[in-house]
Amino acid sequence: MAEEPTANISGGTAGGSGAVEFEPEDAATRAESVIDRLGKLYWQKSYGGQDAFTCLVRTVLSQNTSDKASQPAHDNLMQRYAGSEDDESSTDLAEALAAADQPELAETISNAGLYNQKSKTLIALAERVVAEYGGAEEFDAFVREADHDDVRDTLLDMKGVGPKTADCVLLFSGGRGGVFPVDTHVHRIYRRLGIAPAEADHEAVRGVLEKRVPAEKCGFGHTASIQFGREYCKARKPACLDDPDACPLGDVCEQVGVYPESGEVIDPAEAPEAE
Ligand code: SF4
Repeated sequence: MAEEPTANISGGTAGGSGAVEFEPEDAATRAESVIDRLGKLYWQKSYGGQDAFTCLVRTVLSQNTSDKASQPAHDNLMQRYAGSEDDESSTDLAEALAAADQPELAETISNAGLYNQKSKTLIALAERVVAEYGGAEEFDAFVREADHDDVRDTLLDMKGVGPKTADCVLLFSGGRGGVFPVDTHVHRIYRRLGIAPAEADHEAVRGVLEKRVPAEKCGFGHTASIQFGREYCKARKPACLDDPDACPLGDVCEQVGVYPESGEVIDPAEAPEAE
C-alpha cells in the first residue's frame, strides 16, 4: 500500500489520526467497493486534529492551483505569520493575519496563484474569526464541538469558502465522519464510473457518495480518489484510453464520456445517454 504524499492536505505518516480497518468483501454498494479498492491501492487513514483556521488557510491557498504550487505558499505564510512551534513568541495565526499588510501577505503567498485575491480573502476570514470567536483556538473548538450543520453553514457563510473548503475543514480539523469533500477529481471520477449521474454537480456527487459510503471511509475515500485521479483517471488522458487493462478500476467502470475507440474524452454531462 502506498503512503499518502506529504504534499496532500493531510498527507505523510504524521497526517491523519490512524488506520481504518475493514473487510473489502463486505462492501454494501458499488461506491463502497470502489473506495475499498482505492483504500487497498493507496491508504486507509482516518483524519482530524488539524487546527481549523490553519486548515482553512491551507485550503483557500490550494483553490484553483496544485498542491505543488500552494505548499511553498503555505510554508512561507506559516513562517512569516505563525512563528515556529518552538518559539515562545508564536502568535495566534488568525490575529496575525487579521493585522497583516495585504500587499505583504500577497507577496508571501505569491507561489499560490491568484495571490492578490487570496490575500484579501485570508485577511477577511481572519478578521471574522477574531471578531466572532476571539482567535484561532476558539474557532478550532467551535469546528470540533458544534453541531455539524451549524459548522458547515457558518463556514459556507464566510466569503471565499465554498463547499469543498468547508468540507475539508470539517474532515481534516473536525475529524467528522461521513464528510466526503468533492473536488474536481472526485467530481470527474464518480461520474465517469457511472456511480453518480453524469449531469450531477459537485453537491449532487457529494450527496451520492455520503449516502453510499460508510462514514469512516469517506475521509480516505476523498484523499485516495484524488491520488487515483492524478495517477489514472486523469482529466484529459484517462489510463484506459490507450490500454483497457491499465486502470485498476477498469472492470467496474462505465467510462461515461471516455471513448477509447476514437480517443475522445468529454465531460460525462455532455455524453449521450447509453441505450
Ligand atoms: S476505466 Fe478509465 S474512466 Fe474508468 S476509472 Fe479507469 S481511467 Fe477512469
